[in-house]
Amino acid sequence: MKEMMKVARLHRIGEELRINRVQVPKVGADDVLVDIKASGICHSDINYRDGVSPVGKLPIILGHEIAGEIMEVGGRVEGVENGDRVCVHYVISCGNCLFCSTGRENLCGKYQMIGKDVDGGFAEYIKVPARNVLKLPETIPFEQGAIMGCAVSTAFHALRRGRVSVGDTVVIYGVGGLGVHAVQLASKIFGAGKVIAVDVSNGKLKLAEKLGADEVVNTAEGDPAERIKEITRGRLADVTLEFIGLRKTIEKAIDCVGKGGRMVIVGIGPEDIRVSPYGTIIAKEMELIGVNDHLKSEMAQLIELVGSEKIDLSNSVTHRVPLEDVNRGMEILERKIGNPVRVVVVQ
Ligand SMILES: [Zn+2]
Ligand SMILES: [Zn+2]
Repeated sequence: MKEMMKVARLHRIGEELRINRVQVPKVGADDVLVDIKASGICHSDINYRDGVSPVGKLPIILGHEIAGEIMEVGGRVEGVENGDRVCVHYVISCGNCLFCSTGRENLCGKYQMIGKDVDGGFAEYIKVPARNVLKLPETIPFEQGAIMGCAVSTAFHALRRGRVSVGDTVVIYGVGGLGVHAVQLASKIFGAGKVIAVDVSNGKLKLAEKLGADEVVNTAEGDPAERIKEITRGRLADVTLEFIGLRKTIEKAIDCVGKGGRMVIVGIGPEDIRVSPYGTIIAKEMELIGVNDHLKSEMAQLIELVGSEKIDLSNSVTHRVPLEDVNRGMEILERKIGNPVRVVVVQ
């Protein structure tokens, strides 16, 4: 076994990641060591780099969409062995508190996130608790397994939180890495009656259409709420999900929710939003729902859905970079060079 490994670490907020050599972590009795094959770059990584969301320590290895092969298991670990193909659930939780024991480990009081609070996946290897890995069937490529760790699973969690059900009119506001998966899941798995994708990029809207959007609305062509009012003959949406996180997009997404509807906020940004309690929320009996992360059980469900080809992730990874070029990968995502869905570090 190698003693040292290559990693990409954030040393200072606002600076590029640096390629370092550090010791390969030693596994504890309940841990596994994963030989990382694919590691997705998420918009959150850009937020951590820029200080929009705080990280737990510096320097830190970012990266929370991870898939690879088990190369060492701790003494007490059962159920996985060397050579198993796995993807990683990034939520480290205590397993015992009220939230953990009721299947909401994303709200655990001892919550830690891999790639934010503890070292993540922009590395050759990672040590994680054994209960954070899920086996990946041979039919699912590592790069798809990696993005199931955030882009796909958080979209899935958001639709579940929004209680999207058969026949609902669903507006997906922002169809980037997460939103485009919400489009596909809403139309193919949750049984939405009408899925309306909203974005400023025609390239993204085109892909959303291919993956199941019934209607697309480009925000550059006028007020999207007015357009959605026309499409729905005045009813607006049963559920709107916002995946961008800017003040103006969240506020506009709220305008797209109809009477008795639900507003699901997923996008993270630095600005506060302003809503009028009566006009916006009370009079419509609108529900405002927050979404944070996802559950391990949802990743297991997604592995079934992708493994059985009910969900197709073959359009989802648009760019691949080696570990040394992770900063270039982040730039591709940030500046939207070449219309990226997901950029993945592959090794
Ligand atoms: Zn993420
Ligand atoms: Zn807990």
